[in-house]
Amino acid sequence: MLLRAERVGVAFGGIRALDEVTMSVAAGEVVGLIGPNGAGKTTFIDAVSGFVPATGTIHFGDQQIQGLPAHRRAALGLVRTFQHLELFDDLSLTENVLIGHGRRPGGRQEAAALLYRFGLADHAGAFPPDLSHGQQRLLALARALASRPRLLLLDEPAAGLDSRESAALADPIRAMATGERAVLLIDHDVDLVFSVCDRVYVLEFGRVIAAGGPAEVSASAAVRAAYLGTA
Ligand code: ATP
Repeated sequence: MLLRAERVGVAFGGIRALDEVTMSVAAGEVVGLIGPNGAGKTTFIDAVSGFVPATGTIHFGDQQIQGLPAHRRAALGLVRTFQHLELFDDLSLTENVLIGHGRRPGGRQEAAALLYRFGLADHAGAFPPDLSHGQQRLLALARALASRPRLLLLDEPAAGLDSRESAALADPIRAMATGERAVLLIDHDVDLVFSVCDRVYVLEFGRVIAAGGPAEVSASAAVRAAYLGTA
């Protein structure tokens, strides 16, 4: 397993945002994490990427990463995106992608290839505010990939997109999980999550209430009751 999170807990004051959450992601997988508002999805990404302290154990590859600061986890290949995109509006698209790339040689060529891959090549010299919201979301994915992650934690990549734009993310997200790389996808668009993921975990009140293949999870009565409200 690339990521093994075992009995992870996070509390904010009296609120148990995550309670004994156990979850794994293997290389080559796209794994989904869904659940109602406030279920603990972003907190799980925060705990894995080192943005909030957590109890339990988290292994990345064969390394125990619990306690490592966020930048050390990123350097190991654990890279996240944010619900709010955090793009640099006064830098060109190419320069935004180069930020993800760091100081490795061949950056401009690789940035050009990534912009091409996400359909943004014609806008390479433009600035994020010149783009549609959907294009900005693709730019954030290109920048995250530029850092050559082993595990990409995507926090609501389809937020604010209409259903057509959201569906257009399925292929790029699927294509990110090749070879040794894997993706953990959080999104409220369950159609996107069920169509793109190999396995899906469902959180409610900080606990895993279901896990399995998309067909199995979407048919689960507990999930329909808790999440889809259609039991
Ligand atoms: P959404 O789908 O709305 O983004 P989520 O599933 O990502 O929700 P979290 O944002 O992880 O849920 O929040 C889980 C719980 O922890 C919620 O009750 C939330 O109010 C609480 N919480 C999250 N961050 C903090 C914080 N920094 N301080 C206090 N409480 C927090």
